[in-house]
Amino acid sequence: MTNTTLTPDPQDFLALEQLLSEEERMVAHTVRQLVNEKIKPNVGEWFENHEFPKEMALEFGKLGMLGMHLEGYGCAGMSAVAYGSACLELEAGDSGARSFVSVQGSLAMFPIWKFGSEEQKQEWLPRMAAGEAIGCFGLTEPDSGSDPSSMRTTARRDGDDWILNGTKMWITNGSIADVAVIWAQTDEGIRGFVVDTRTEGYQARKIEKKLSLRASITAEIVLDNVRLPGSAALPGVVGIKGPLSCLNEARFGILFGAVGAARDCYEAALDYTLQRTQFGKPLAGFQLTQGKLADMLIRVNRAHLLAIHLGKLKDAGNLTPAQISFGKKDNVAQALHVAREARGMLGASGITLEYPVIRHMNNLESVYTYEGTNEVHTLVLGQAVTKIGAFR
Ligand code: FAD
Repeated sequence: MTNTTLTPDPQDFLALEQLLSEEERMVAHTVRQLVNEKIKPNVGEWFENHEFPKEMALEFGKLGMLGMHLEGYGCAGMSAVAYGSACLELEAGDSGARSFVSVQGSLAMFPIWKFGSEEQKQEWLPRMAAGEAIGCFGLTEPDSGSDPSSMRTTARRDGDDWILNGTKMWITNGSIADVAVIWAQTDEGIRGFVVDTRTEGYQARKIEKKLSLRASITAEIVLDNVRLPGSAALPGVVGIKGPLSCLNEARFGILFGAVGAARDCYEAALDYTLQRTQFGKPLAGFQLTQGKLADMLIRVNRAHLLAIHLGKLKDAGNLTPAQISFGKKDNVAQALHVAREARGMLGASGITLEYPVIRHMNNLESVYTYEGTNEVHTLVLGQAVTKIGAFR
């Protein structure tokens, strides 16, 4: 029966919170509070200064947000929907904060947790979960992006040791990391290596002049005859499926996270157009503005609904990589659309860091490209429905 006495909450129009368990709701509220207290008041300055304070890792660790969907070794072992909801709230603050948590949990901790030796797990995971050690994930190279199998970084045997040589590019947290998971070609195929970044021959240089994801550190890593013990290789996987399985974990966080950036832009536009008066009434009172707000509201809620649905599939063990591509591709595209619309609705104010919209809009350009570009996910969907690969 339809309830005509209830008014929808503009901040949760479809009452999607009702789809979350009590624990998942609690996670969302706790992270939202952290974002309101520690990220939103400062992130404009971090963005302007092109920095992300390392101390935030400890804050995330305290709340159990690092590797929160993993079991054991100090990890919180929460549901996929809880992890996604944390990503959503974080990205409502800034995509850089969500990137930090995604890289740490899904790209650096996950391969150690899934494919690592007991010794590697004991050495790194508890400290990474606490935010005391920062991780990064080195897959992309200057000449190898969407086609990671073409990587040139090599690991060759020298007695019991491995010697790594090559260059990794666009590596989030590369220059502040304590440990890097580096993927390299070996005689057996692509393998992952757990590299203590203090090892001789590991060099990382922060990439400057980014106009997107500025509150996130991105680096180039040069590996110059990095000698590692035999025990540094991840024993549990050989082949490109190793890094791709990590990317699937991280893309899952993104399909939730993008909803947070979109929601924050929608809320900023709603708030601004209710306050701002032109032609004798609030901008929100004009039909053109209401058309935009209604369109944004629908996109944000639809994307959130999709994310929760995919999260529930993941928790049931039934989520496929192509479904993750569906979510990553569409939710990021929707978020970009909402951010660009909001940018215009704020007029001149929309181009400053006083409001979040241009920061989100610029950040989402990176989110559109990393973890599989929009085109790569389109090709994944094309292959899934036609059974014909069109990548090459
Ligand atoms: P390319 O692969 O050169 O693609 C350029 C364009 O060509 C894109 O539009 C692409 O969609 C298109 N294209 C490529 N192939 C096809 C095709 N077959 N058909 C049609 N179009 C195609 N990498 C890591 O390993 N670790 C990280 O932590 C990390 N962090 C990042 C942080 C930021 C801020 C950014 C921007 C990137 C990061 N990356 C990271 C790298 C990211 O994953 C790559 O940028 C991405 O995979 C795309 O690779 P590329 O930039 O080399 O573009």
